[in-house]
Amino acid sequence: MTDPDSWVLAVDLGGTRLRMAVVTPAGELLYEEQHPTPKTRPDILAQIWALLDRGRDWVAAQGKGLRGIGISTGGRVDFERGEVVDATALLPDWRRVPLRDLTVEHLGLPTWVDNDGNCAALGELWFGAGQDCHHFLSVVVGTGIGGGVVLDRQVLRGVAGTAGELGHISVDYQGPVCPCGNWGCVELFASGSGLANLAQTLWEAGVLQFTHKTITSATEITAREVGEAARLGNPVAQDLIQRAGRILGTALTSLLHTLNPERVIVGGTVLDLGEDYWQPLVNTVQSRAMAPAPLVRSPLREAGLLGAAALVWQNGASEGIKPPQSP
Ligand SMILES: [Zn+2]
Repeated sequence: MTDPDSWVLAVDLGGTRLRMAVVTPAGELLYEEQHPTPKTRPDILAQIWALLDRGRDWVAAQGKGLRGIGISTGGRVDFERGEVVDATALLPDWRRVPLRDLTVEHLGLPTWVDNDGNCAALGELWFGAGQDCHHFLSVVVGTGIGGGVVLDRQVLRGVAGTAGELGHISVDYQGPVCPCGNWGCVELFASGSGLANLAQTLWEAGVLQFTHKTITSATEITAREVGEAARLGNPVAQDLIQRAGRILGTALTSLLHTLNPERVIVGGTVLDLGEDYWQPLVNTVQSRAMAPAPLVRSPLREAGLLGAAALVWQNGASEGIKPPQSP
């Protein structure tokens, strides 16, 4: 096992799940806990610290030490200040939270905080499909669409921490209003929640029917149900998923024209929809981009947690923390 003094505690705070793990420099997850995300800010903070306390105690019981803490969170993060600026409705009241300083106060370990899209990109850089890359894009298609941009092996954060918000690239300038303030964002069409919303509208209009399951209310329709209908040969469901793939491909093409990366690493639960989503996505980029970059699927099960851990090794020089390996 690798140098125990380089172990870190990683936290991944999402809208539905809060996870914590002890992570080694080799990317092994030695101790993991997962809980539903609490509903209020005080409860979220209390749960994060309770998890970190248990992680620290577990490491101490092994007779080992810890180098620091990395936290991945949904929402917009001021990385320099270690502060959550704001978040979507998935994490209500999660704004103006000086998460780094509060965590340092509570546990006394060096701590870094970044948003989930950037952490997933760092996870790919250290442990995933970006290990041999200098410039790449990371896209996570789940409930929403998260993104991260790595240039010269550094995460691009921009002046206000909003670089890499790939889900909020508009693909329809007159499209529906997005909670972010823009119109027609790709997330509204190509994410899991976007697919579910579109399917619900089609179901209410009688255009989309489900045979594998009795649906009595539109709210029961999820991306998973659309995927199951498509798998059983429903042409409307298949078309909806293929269209979502093409729309994401269109947005990614704009990014290739802006950043010219070596590759695009795509992960997230929406890829479980299979070839109906993946092929139109790949084909759109191949046919539209001036210089198409290869799209590859993320090999990581826990890109966010691994990226949170990598925050410590990537940024720890100021605390005397040496990277365990060249990422
Ligand atoms: Zn948006």
